[in-house]
Amino acid sequence: MSSTGGRHFLQIPGPTNVPDRVLRAMLAPTIDHRGPDFAELTRAVLPALAPVFGTSGPVVIYPSSGTGAWEAALVNTLSPGDRVLIGETGQFSTLWAELAARLGLEVEVIPGDWRHGVDPAAVEERLAADTAHTIAAVCVVHNETSTGVTSRVPEVRAAIDAAGHPALLLVDTISSLGSIDYRHDEWGVDVTVAGSQKGLMLPPGLGFNAVSEKALARSAGLPRSYWDWAPIIEANSRGFFPYTPATNMLYGLKEACAMLAEEGLPAVFERHQRHAAATRAAVRAWGLEVWCADEREHSGALTAVLLPEGHDADAMRRIILERFDMSLGAGLGRLAGTVFRIGHLGHFNDLTLAGTLAGVQMGLQLAGVPIKPGGVEAALELLR
Ligand SMILES: *Cc1c(COP(=O)(O)O)cnc(C)c1O
Repeated sequence: MSSTGGRHFLQIPGPTNVPDRVLRAMLAPTIDHRGPDFAELTRAVLPALAPVFGTSGPVVIYPSSGTGAWEAALVNTLSPGDRVLIGETGQFSTLWAELAARLGLEVEVIPGDWRHGVDPAAVEERLAADTAHTIAAVCVVHNETSTGVTSRVPEVRAAIDAAGHPALLLVDTISSLGSIDYRHDEWGVDVTVAGSQKGLMLPPGLGFNAVSEKALARSAGLPRSYWDWAPIIEANSRGFFPYTPATNMLYGLKEACAMLAEEGLPAVFERHQRHAAATRAAVRAWGLEVWCADEREHSGALTAVLLPEGHDADAMRRIILERFDMSLGAGLGRLAGTVFRIGHLGHFNDLTLAGTLAGVQMGLQLAGVPIKPGGVEAALELLR
């Protein structure tokens, strides 16, 4: 890569651009994690983090990627041979299902076409048929990062209730927390899985589980040690962690939570929806197709775009990286090469969107993708 002036545009749907405020907060001495200053940090971070999940219950923080937090949600609530129902929404729901199977769980997938979210009616139908209550948990990826589709979690909750089923509801919010409306307590979620590097505007390195009382009360039989909630929650109550926490990431987390609180979560969510709408306006003006097929389920965090037959999305992304120093998301799994993804989440504003879309428009033209002009202008129109 040749050196260019200006900043790199990191417009993949995570990791996202880390604000200078967060970077500066992290640039501090690493302190004794068993000393009094650390307890103060824990006591500041945990209450600042809980409202981001919309919970008054515990949030467990791991030094891990989101995948670790996926595993933690399962091993703390389930027993070997338990059945889990997972709605197929795309590559990430598929990976979570594979992880569950490797842990010795019985995985049942509700098939999906990757263009829609989890179908609440299908969940209700399956649970209603499970009169012996063999299904221990329903797993939903809230924002499917591989497709730009957001599942309707409150409707899934309502479906579980309508079936009168005791299954736990486990939700992956790794790419939605801090960017798309989400409420752990109000929506009756039992475990919310999250990660640091997407809507939370931090570098990769922290995983999270927000935990309901019902989930805490499960006596799960899967083996666990590092991921065990109990010693972490116990140590947290005294301001500490059972093993060395990612101290400097916690400085950053405290700052990121402060930024979200200053803007206000409703304003944060609205900003994301507005940028998503402007992005769709651009895509449609170019004459291209937004991958998400349900108007109710467009992601506020990213937009996946389908290229016309015979055009390679990865070749286009390469041109954009080389010419304009912008990274866009690749198509994942079965969408490799046919879609690209525009991340518009986290630390992001109107002009970063304008720059992003300008880069995409030029890249499409350079790659010889037949588009109509005026996509950027359509987005600006909406932003204006
Ligand atoms: C990024 C992502 C993951 C994986 O997180 P890692 O931090 O890469 O382990 C899982 N689920 C969703 C929805 C994601 O966006």
